[in-house]
Amino acid sequence: MRNYRVAIVGFGPRGLSLLERLAAAYRGLAPGFALAVDLVDPGAPGQGAHPAGQPDHLLANTVAGQVTMFTDDSVRGAGPIEPGPSLLEWANAAGYRRFGNTFKQARAGGAAIEENDYLPRSLLGRYFSDVFDRLVEGLPPNVVVTHHRCLAKDVHRLANGHYEVVLDSGIRLDANHVVIVTGHGDNDLSEADRHLLDRAQALQSVNPRLRFIPRVKPFSVLQSIPGDAIVGIQGIGLTAYDIIADLTIGRGGEFHAQSDGRLRYRASGQEPRLVVFSRQGIPFCARATNEKGVGGLYKPRFFTRSWIDGIRRDRYRETGSEQLDFERDLWPVLVKEMCFAYRLSETGETEALDYEPLPRHRAIIERLLFPFKGKTFDTSEAFAAAVKQHVEDDVAHARGGNVSDPVKAATDVLRDVRDYLRYAVDYGGLTEQSHRAFLNEAVPNMYRLSAGAPKERNMELLALFEAGLLSFGPGPNAQLDLDETRACFVLHSTRLTEPASRTFDVLVRARTDCAVELGGQTSPFLRNLLDGGMIRPFKNGAFLPGGLDVDSSQNVVDAHGQVQKRVWALGIPAEGPNFCTYVLPRVQVNSRFLQFSGRCAVSILADIQAQDAALDRETRYAEDLRV
Ligand SMILES: Cc1cc2nc3c(=O)[nH]c(=O)nc-3n(C[C@H](O)[C@H](O)[C@H](O)COP(=O)(O)OP(=O)(O)OC[C@H]3O[C@@H](n4cnc5c(N)ncnc54)[C@H](O)[C@@H]3O)c2cc1C
Repeated sequence: MRNYRVAIVGFGPRGLSLLERLAAAYRGLAPGFALAVDLVDPGAPGQGAHPAGQPDHLLANTVAGQVTMFTDDSVRGAGPIEPGPSLLEWANAAGYRRFGNTFKQARAGGAAIEENDYLPRSLLGRYFSDVFDRLVEGLPPNVVVTHHRCLAKDVHRLANGHYEVVLDSGIRLDANHVVIVTGHGDNDLSEADRHLLDRAQALQSVNPRLRFIPRVKPFSVLQSIPGDAIVGIQGIGLTAYDIIADLTIGRGGEFHAQSDGRLRYRASGQEPRLVVFSRQGIPFCARATNEKGVGGLYKPRFFTRSWIDGIRRDRYRETGSEQLDFERDLWPVLVKEMCFAYRLSETGETEALDYEPLPRHRAIIERLLFPFKGKTFDTSEAFAAAVKQHVEDDVAHARGGNVSDPVKAATDVLRDVRDYLRYAVDYGGLTEQSHRAFLNEAVPNMYRLSAGAPKERNMELLALFEAGLLSFGPGPNAQLDLDETRACFVLHSTRLTEPASRTFDVLVRARTDCAVELGGQTSPFLRNLLDGGMIRPFKNGAFLPGGLDVDSSQNVVDAHGQVQKRVWALGIPAEGPNFCTYVLPRVQVNSRFLQFSGRCAVSILADIQAQDAALDRETRYAEDLRV
């Protein structure tokens, strides 16, 4: 029996899913060859961005009932369906119980975890490791898995068609197939950020509290912030909520529910004061109470695959290119879909034939997208009051639920039709100019509306505001400077009638690099692959959205434009040709994450089977010749 080797570089959730699919496909095939799978990752198996050791106040933003690592009957084209426990089922079976806002293993007391609970990400990490143990215990005969707890440094193509994966431990792995699933990386800091970092360090002799934290990685960097500092948090999205939780709950503060449903913050005295700001100055909208069950999604009436195919054909006839313009071709129909969902929630009306949105509904959607459009603010207090009102209104909508509340039903459309949007924009589906505008302008606004944190996070924001520990930046588009004389950061308003400013000691950039910029990478692995010509950056015309180039099977395209049929890139390294890869697999929605790992696993085994059959034929031929 011949032995073939697959190297999985990066073993976070994506690598884990690939291993699960490889094992399932191998079992389904029962082939006449053996398989050795080398997993390369310095971290605990499967955990990736979700280490089990992180603090419990960092929450997943997907409800427990929706996360899974296993296929179900909704999943198509991903190999044999092999069900397994979702995060919810695992957590309950492992004896976790909910005690107020905390979750711990206990024989009695507390309450069972429910499908709509947002669990700590540390539990996600434990779930992934448990899935790994389960997979390894149940591996089919003749499949062997080895975990190399180190970083991969490079991959070379060998003369015999194999690949050599070079590890930083000095080991060189021989592989027939390589899958790159290195997930979230760190792009190089910009020149301006490096300068800011140097200046902030130099000025610490004047203000010892002064710091610039360009990325919260590892999360423990926040522990260096003194309790008497004022911290400016740049960006009010998912990372900001983590930072706020860490600087408050993580410092011993507590949020307590009041009889009116609001939260009150009891300070520990160890927490710094916070200033939160962003371009628009408005926090992400809260995730509404889920009323759709674990697998429920809004099913588009207009923004369908066949409609997207049709509009592509139209564009091809007009321009000779199938590339679409998001603003012109797609956005109006997405807005129509949101208006339809609004009406459906408001009136129950399901008729879609000849549907045209009412001007009133269009105006509501426009206001949701640009809440402060056309508004002027005299003072920073007026701006803060408007932001507070906006957050309060949004929390009220979120309580209403993602089906019953028309606003949340409409904004949830943007989340639920993501696969259709991917179908339209992936692999250079938009024109160069439109792709740029889509990522820079449309996506941030769509995410602000539909990809927020649980509503409790925005209630915490309000409680901190009311406790005087958190303020909002002085108006939209505030300008940030480092005041070298006073050794502090200053935010100047640019849009207020009465100019105002905020000063702070620590600037924390609240963002996670989602697209990998190959030209400026801290990862030696990706740098070496690029320098060695194994990969090239994905380009749409002259636009470099990030990510490495892949074909529609997710095989990497090398520097010469050749598709490497035995090297794959899945997930975040391919964010660029793919859109919105940073989402965990979900239960009962034909998850794209699972489809991609399944397709990759099935192709690898099919290719090995073909190679093995060819070698059998050659052997038989050689034997025949000998006879
Ligand atoms: C802070 C944070 C919170 C998130 N929360 C959620 C959430 O609640 N819900 C959700 O759906 N998604 C969430 N995400 C999105 C996230 O993309 C997915 O949850 C998931 O982690 C993606 O899995 P992955 O394996 O592709 O990447 P990762 O989780 O990033 O794992 C990649 C792995 O590759 C390893 N690696 C990298 N380079 C090398 C190398 N050269 N050699 C060997 N190993 C290497 C890393 O050590 C890591 O273990 C979150 C992301 C972050 C950063």
